[in-house]
Amino acid sequence: MHCPFCRHADSRVVDSRTSDDGASIRRRRQCPECNRRFTTIETASLSVVKRSGVTEPFSREKIVNGVRKACQGRPVNEDDLAVLAQRVEETIRASGSAELDAYEIGLAILGPLRELDEVAYLRFASVYQAFDSLEDFESAITSLRVDREEREAAAGRAAAEAADDAATDREAAPQP
Ligand SMILES: [Zn+2]
Repeated sequence: MHCPFCRHADSRVVDSRTSDDGASIRRRRQCPECNRRFTTIETASLSVVKRSGVTEPFSREKIVNGVRKACQGRPVNEDDLAVLAQRVEETIRASGSAELDAYEIGLAILGPLRELDEVAYLRFASVYQAFDSLEDFESAITSLRVDREEREAAAGRAAAEAADDAATDREAAPQP
């Protein structure tokens, strides 16, 4: 591999270790010409099989472009989209398969998009899951409501516990 500093045509591996999840290998390399060191990360390449049967390399860029349309006019910025695409890639890599179909990619997008923006999620899900009736929207919205109520209830419980703890701390504090 070329040295990224001086472009020397060769480099040697001085250390190599597998990541904890076994999905990648990091190698420390040294250039014999300028002696500088750099790191490379080796992962299996991911392919996506499109509905047409054509296979193409997985790209975060394509995820971002696909989701951006659903996010038009929503309070979602480019950083949010980049984080979402990263989470999608992590999910897909964690599945351990080197080749996925477009449907599985869509599935991996739904979870993080739902957390990011509910309206964008509904738009994306309606296209991806081919909603064809009001009932489809209704059941998706009901499920979003249930999730939100559960989150709010959990936040309420956490706040009540924090207030309890604070009260206990005050009681436990030595009196002046
Ligand atoms: Zn070099």
